Parts: sequence; C-alpha cells; structure tokens
Amino acid sequence: MPIYEKDVDQPAIRRAVREILKAVGEDPDREGLRDTPARVARMYAELCEGLRKDPRKDLKARFRERYDEVVLVKDIPFHSLCEHHLLPFIGKVHVGYLPSGQVLGLSKVARIVDTLAHRPQVQERLTTQIAELLNRELKPKGVAVVMEASHACMTIRGVKKPGSAMITSAMLGHFRRDPAARAEVMALIRG
Ligand SMILES: [Zn+2]
Repeated sequence: MPIYEKDVDQPAIRRAVREILKAVGEDPDREGLRDTPARVARMYAELCEGLRKDPRKDLKARFRERYDEVVLVKDIPFHSLCEHHLLPFIGKVHVGYLPSGQVLGLSKVARIVDTLAHRPQVQERLTTQIAELLNRELKPKGVAVVMEASHACMTIRGVKKPGSAMITSAMLGHFRRDPAARAEVMALIRG
C-alpha cells in the first residue's frame, strides 16, 4: 500500500461514496460499481497526498551559484483538485526566479508544485503558495509564477465552456516592482 493511503480514513470515504451512488439512484451493489467506493477512496488518498507532505523538504537541495539572471522552469504539467467541486483542474505552470547566491535543483520546483497541487485547492491560492514558498525558503531577488489551467468544473458542468483556460500569476520582489524585469520574464514564458 502506498504510504499516502495509510493516513487517510478510507472506510469513511467508501461509506460516503456508497451513499452518493445510492443518492443519485444507482445500485452500489451491482457488479460494475461494487469496487467503485474502494477505488474512489484510493484515488482521493492519492489526489490529496500533498496534505501530509511538507514542501519545504524539497527545497533543501540548493547550490551556491553566482548566476544572477532569471532561472525559468517552463511548462511544468500539473493537476489539482478544485476545492469547490472536487473536480480536477489541469494545466501547466511556469516558475521563474532571480537567484541571490543560490539556485535550486531542477526537479525541485516540479516537486513543490506537485505537493501543493495534491491538495484541495483554488488556482489563485496554488499560484500564490508556490511563489511565497520559494520566496521564503530561497530568498531570491524575485519570483514569478504563471499558471494556466482548464477546470473540469467549468468545462463539463455549470457554464460548460470546453477549451476555456484560466490564467493566474504571482509576482514577488523584483518582478513585482520592476516592469522591465516582469516584461523580461513574461517574454521568456511566452517565447
Ligand atoms: Zn470548481
């Protein structure tokens, strides 16, 4: 059993999913649905595993480096769980920072995105949390996070607008204060 499944009250999720199936008019005991509550319980354990992880741990691997231009990790794929509907939102995020003496291992940025995204979230908060975490831990001169995602709660229900995307950004430090620095990082993201 993966570690994240142990810390979740799976019997409670299984009971709740059975109730949902009954409430929508289904028979939770028919063959196709028999294992659904258990599958859904494991799925939520996985999609929310970030609740039990400390993303700061992933920021321990830093290297002293005199490089002082923008570091941009582009097109990091992610998926998260919209906390209003418990439906996925899926997209990519671009994370840039202006180092002040230390840089991160390349995979670390993707790790913290994963940890923070594997929680019930709203896109705006997820964007801000990534930026603020990097700002606090790495103390760079600036952080820029731009996220674009498609929300299942908008594409398959409610207003039903498939193809629509939501873009959020968080700019801190230099990128917030200096329009030229912001324009530079945005050009790198678009280019
Ligand atoms: Zn939603």
